[in-house]
Amino acid sequence: MKSLFSITACIVNLSIFLVFTAAAQNPEFPWPEGKKMAISLSFDDARASNPSPGATLLNEYGVKATFYVVPASMERDIPGWEMVVDTGHEIGNHSLYHPCSGNFVWSRNKALEDYTLERMRKELIAANDEVERLLGVRPEVFAYPCGLTYVGKGERTQSYVPLISELFLSGRGWKDEAPVDPYYADMAQLTGMEMDNKSFEEILPLIEAAAENRQWLVLAGHETNTEGNQTTYLSMLRKLCAYANDPANGIWIAPVGTVAKYVNEKRAAMEGNLNIPGISRPSEEGSINLTAEKGKGIGPDIKYMPEWNAFGWFTAKDRVEWDLDLPKKGTYEVWMEWSVSDEEAGKPFLLTSGDQTIEGVVKPSGSWETFQKTKIGKLSLEADFNRIIVASGEEFEDGALMDLKALTLVPVGK
Ligand SMILES: [Zn+2]
Repeated sequence: MKSLFSITACIVNLSIFLVFTAAAQNPEFPWPEGKKMAISLSFDDARASNPSPGATLLNEYGVKATFYVVPASMERDIPGWEMVVDTGHEIGNHSLYHPCSGNFVWSRNKALEDYTLERMRKELIAANDEVERLLGVRPEVFAYPCGLTYVGKGERTQSYVPLISELFLSGRGWKDEAPVDPYYADMAQLTGMEMDNKSFEEILPLIEAAAENRQWLVLAGHETNTEGNQTTYLSMLRKLCAYANDPANGIWIAPVGTVAKYVNEKRAAMEGNLNIPGISRPSEEGSINLTAEKGKGIGPDIKYMPEWNAFGWFTAKDRVEWDLDLPKKGTYEVWMEWSVSDEEAGKPFLLTSGDQTIEGVVKPSGSWETFQKTKIGKLSLEADFNRIIVASGEEFEDGALMDLKALTLVPVGK
């Protein structure tokens, strides 16, 4: 047994291992037909150049896009917009009046700073009704005007992302700087990367980086023409469509709603077998299940094992962290679910949360394949944010501490 000093030193030194944050051990995202990435083309505001020459050019290549419309702007060319719908493009909602910050002088009389959530809700539904009246289709996807996601001002500011999450399959931003991670992304906050006034040679590096990381690149533009402000160039679109249609490039190009539904289906099918670190909250009965899927493995050798839904734990330098959000403070019994072979059993572990520590010894579970569940102690947790860390209780050179599947926190009394 090492001295208490070395245990303390071990904890102090944990911070330097942050650089070893385990790379996700998730499988590559399964895009259809073995493709490497997805691209969605999207155009905002229902600009005059969108039906023609925009949609007609895309139709030459069989590429379907998403047009986020402000319904009143379509009224000057209903036949054009009917053609857009009839040729298989998606119509999205871009609000009824395009409210943005009052810092835009043109938006001062419809400033988001003067909106409430209820007014926004009514207008979003009215915009959907209006699109349906004009074109016979009801939008399922939304793009935030100006990419802004708030209503109100100062202390009364509120996000309208939850409203978009409730009413739509997805919400897209504007002038974002990273593509969508299909495993991680919040559908109500899809990133939108600008394609206006860019050549294909300027867009290509974004595509190549997204393919490398198996991501979803949602490109956002406005007019579709040969020149002008806020204009996606036809020459760029021609090259992009040809590139995306070349099977050698492994690209799935489809409207935002089509890709969003596909991603949701794949995520649901893989639920429980992916490590997506995130914040944990109590169930309705009040207990909190800290699963390996939600934990953050940190250290040189720790691995998430999807076949076991557990962290494989190899060295004394590894740890797992879980973040929790609690509605109120309380005391919890802590249960641990683990496995270990008889040869590796018996090493000390430490569970810490703030200044509280639970010390224990990893008891034999029967084998690496046999998981056991046992009560290891009690913790008092604060309301709001808490972090729980499980690590080795001492340095050891060879072997493994345990495989860790989950912690369960069960509330004690009231
Ligand atoms: Zn817009």
